[in-house]
Amino acid sequence: AARMKVAVLGSTGSIGLSTLDVLARHPDRFEVFALTAHSNIARLREQCLAHRPQFAVVVDAAAAAKFTSELQASGCTTRVLVGEAALSEVAAHEQVDAVMAAIVGAAGLRSSLAAARAGKRIMLANKEALVMSGPLFMQAVRDGGATLLPVDSEHNAVFQCMSGPGATQAGVTRSDVRRVLLTASGGPFLRTPASALVAVTPEQACKHPRWVMGRKISVDSATLMNKGLELIEACLLFALPPAQVEVVVHPQSIVHSLVEYIDGSMLAQLGNPDMRTPIAHALGWPERIASGVESLDILRAARLDFEAPDATRFPCLRLARSAAEAGGTAPAVLNAANEVAVEAFLQRRLSFLEIPEVIERVLARHPTLPASSLDDVLSADDWARREAQAALTAAAGVCA
Ligand code: NDP
Ligand code: MG
Repeated sequence: AARMKVAVLGSTGSIGLSTLDVLARHPDRFEVFALTAHSNIARLREQCLAHRPQFAVVVDAAAAAKFTSELQASGCTTRVLVGEAALSEVAAHEQVDAVMAAIVGAAGLRSSLAAARAGKRIMLANKEALVMSGPLFMQAVRDGGATLLPVDSEHNAVFQCMSGPGATQAGVTRSDVRRVLLTASGGPFLRTPASALVAVTPEQACKHPRWVMGRKISVDSATLMNKGLELIEACLLFALPPAQVEVVVHPQSIVHSLVEYIDGSMLAQLGNPDMRTPIAHALGWPERIASGVESLDILRAARLDFEAPDATRFPCLRLARSAAEAGGTAPAVLNAANEVAVEAFLQRRLSFLEIPEVIERVLARHPTLPASSLDDVLSADDWARREAQAALTAAAGVCA
């Protein structure tokens, strides 16, 4: 059979690296068609030499010239494309079968949508794209005849627990599902008292107890906004109202999520916390392929704990739930304000506890509008970024 041609968007990131690790285990099954980076050209060069893709995209034009000449000097025939539009070009390329959407944040929206419209198999890690554009994204998947497979470990777990006889596609409502329970590790500050949260640093926030991830999602995990975004993501992927999606803290990160059915059965997916498992699941689906992840030692793990999230110390979960309920442009506003606040926290211009404050202030000033076109989504995103910047300036006196 012909090999599946895969475009890995965001190949230089944490999910990108894990994806290439899985792909390299199956050279007779997959062909790496395109790789993309923003600015880490040293890593992109290494990846091009190892995987020999047809195309490499460098978004940052300043980094591209050096990259192209270096690549040619190494005798690599990969074609280099430059600029943001090239991401959508490779995502929708007629020769591409599957797209790993692993760019972080709103920067991945256009290319993820392009893959959907072009009817590709989309393996979605870039949750922000889906959160922002919601129903529009799901409509593009349907119109394009795309296959949307969740890579986010929780959603991949839910997807696995929902596939059985009469296996569903993501996005198809199941009337026999009572609720979905998304598990959360609780992040690095699960046991940190409220009084100490004021002074936590980006280094502490990025030191996740169970997963090694990019900096943005690491901060999101620390504030629990990651779980908030995932709540919105779950409602969209599985066509569920927010009231049917709950969050439980599970510090061991072994149960990746659960689905409860109307007969009282609860199904869970378990495994070592390693993104190569959901990545391999999405790559191989509907078949199973090896991922390189070792067996979960349940005797050593010995126990599984569950507890309710602390809504007082982690207000982001409440903010995300209200945006999910409001719908329209609210999730895009939530996401944009969060991206601005997290970036400011990483640059030490904002304290940890001010992240939800900035988001709440922006959401409070936002009259929810319908999000029926990409323009609606992009203007809400743009508005929220400007509002969040203004809120940062207001907070700047506090965190000098
Ligand atoms: P990283 O920060 O490690 O990687 C981000 C990738 O996106 C890099 O390839 C980066 O390029 C690229 N990128 C950044 N900015 C831009 C831009 N403006 N235009 C184009 N490309 C850009 O993030 P992760 O891999 O951790 O996360 C990726 C996505 O997957 C996120 O949406 C995250 O929420 C999601 N996810 C991640 C998980 C994880 O375990 N890491 C788990 C579940 C979901 P470069 O490095 O060259 O600058
Ligand atoms: Mg997740």
